[in-house]
Amino acid sequence: IPRMSKGLPMKQKIPNVKRIVLVSSGKGGVGKSTVSVNVALALRSMGKQVGLLDADIFGPSIPKLMNLSGEPRLSEQGKLLPLSNYGIETMSMGYLIPAESALAWRGLMVMKALQQLLFEVQWSNLDYLVVDMPPGTGDTQLTISQQLKVDGAVIVSTPQDIALIDAIKGITMFNKVNIPILGLVQNMSYFVCSNCNHESHIFGTDGAKREAEKQKLELLGSIPLSEDICSQSDLGKPVVISHPESSIVQPYLDIARKII
Ligand code: ADP
Repeated sequence: IPRMSKGLPMKQKIPNVKRIVLVSSGKGGVGKSTVSVNVALALRSMGKQVGLLDADIFGPSIPKLMNLSGEPRLSEQGKLLPLSNYGIETMSMGYLIPAESALAWRGLMVMKALQQLLFEVQWSNLDYLVVDMPPGTGDTQLTISQQLKVDGAVIVSTPQDIALIDAIKGITMFNKVNIPILGLVQNMSYFVCSNCNHESHIFGTDGAKREAEKQKLELLGSIPLSEDICSQSDLGKPVVISHPESSIVQPYLDIARKII
């Protein structure tokens, strides 16, 4: 890794990738991977060439969400060739080792695997690489933020998460490493009844908006709590692909439009 005089690693680009967008969250289970996949597909639907990098080494979700499995082949240069579906190239630790294996890894092995995911993948010419980050603000997040020339980060949060200001820690980290924050996404914001389409704003309506204003961030979108989003994710057919005409897809398209 090239280093600057202060000993800090120099930020690098990923070969063939024009722009890198991180999707991050304060904690797990708030819908970060679901947002990553659907926003990546939304960008693709707008004619962009898109890659999706699953940087969650301990809990990779991209293979299941994108209905992909199997081992990546190697290019002639010995680089990992991405696996593709729905017009998007993807790379994940989930393709390389069984899910349980990484859990027993020491820090050094994790860092080696991360370097491979970041710099040893043979992407096609991509307009956007969407990086599904691990939750929180640990070593992996810091390494990515310090080593990659990132164009911006999207922070995903639920209304309660915002209340607990977990998301704020992520914002602080990105500020420290000079990564611009593109904005906040509020997931599971309100409930839409699948029978009558009534919207229930269970957690109130303005929490995220107020917090975004307080942090001087844009609220990129509010995504409803929806049975379809959950079940389609489980089937490996994200809603942007399976329900393109549905209103639940709109927030993902809005977020993609604001990122471009
Ligand atoms: P994270 O990446 O933050 O850990 P996931 O994207 O894996 O979170 O989502 C966690 C769970 O919540 C998954 O089962 C997913 O299908 C579900 N989920 C995510 N967003 C929504 C939503 N808007 N409505 C309903 N279920 C959702």
